[in-house]
Amino acid sequence: MLTRADKLLIAVLIFAAVCSIIPGLTSVAHEQLFAEIRVDGKLIRTVALRQGYSERIRIGTSQHYNEIEVADKKVRVVDADCPDQICVKTGWISLPSQQIVCLPWHVVIKLSATSQNIDGIAR
Ligand SMILES: [Zn+2]
Repeated sequence: MLTRADKLLIAVLIFAAVCSIIPGLTSVAHEQLFAEIRVDGKLIRTVALRQGYSERIRIGTSQHYNEIEVADKKVRVVDADCPDQICVKTGWISLPSQQIVCLPWHVVIKLSATSQNIDGIAR
């Protein structure tokens, strides 16, 4: 048999759970992550990161390359022929302002929550 105090406790717990879920949902819905891929400081691709979306992007020239993998809301360099392999070792990034840098090939992949240059997708 539940006492009045038990019922109150359950109500408070449910209320607290609902309150913690709702702000989480709204912030996820509002925060659109973009991966900005730059080579030599020039933005060459902006990829919107979405749950369930995946893509492999190969950038570079006939001399060298970086193969980038986008999966859900994270990005990594899967493969590259740079000498230091730091970009590959960096692994997955998934938070705004995180970045992967490939110094030898002047490649920077940066995550941002908003993007000023969505037109970059078409180029
Ligand atoms: Zn590299």
